[in-house]
Amino acid sequence: MTGIPYRIAIPPRPTGGDYAAVPAADLTRAEVLRADEVRLGDTILADFPGFHLPGGDGLVLAEHFTDPYWATPQPTSPGCTCLPCQAADWTAADGPLIKLAEGFPWDGCDVQPASALLLVVRYRCSCGCNTTLADDWSAYDWTSPASVQHLLETGRPLRPGEVLHADLPTLTH
Ligand SMILES: [Zn+2]
Ligand SMILES: [Zn+2]
Repeated sequence: MTGIPYRIAIPPRPTGGDYAAVPAADLTRAEVLRADEVRLGDTILADFPGFHLPGGDGLVLAEHFTDPYWATPQPTSPGCTCLPCQAADWTAADGPLIKLAEGFPWDGCDVQPASALLLVVRYRCSCGCNTTLADDWSAYDWTSPASVQHLLETGRPLRPGEVLHADLPTLTH
């Protein structure tokens, strides 16, 4: 790469209408990251359309998503025929690609060039869980009700055997 060809700016997030509310604290700590720096459970708020493309010295404005979404970074599926993949029509000029989510918020893949910029709120949880990133997906518990509930609420599952003291139904007396 030969430096950053564009300048960026982040307009305030629109409120009301279709725009889901984002806590002010999250907006404050949002960071601009490359797509390949996004990790499991991070929340993606906005993108900077065209930033990864070569040339130009214009100003690229953040485009806020109506629905921020949790990232589940994974390899792309070459030859995928889902609607977003077909519409995007990625080529070699886009560079390496990464799939940041699948099935939500769009039907199909959310693929981004690795060097695309995104406005991201890093995963953070204060429930007492292990907030460090596991080495790979198999190191998470994807099946137990407690872990799935945590995934739905925070965007990241728990580790196998991880027990939380809060909000779990008690079956014994
Ligand atoms: Zn796809
Ligand atoms: Zn937690």
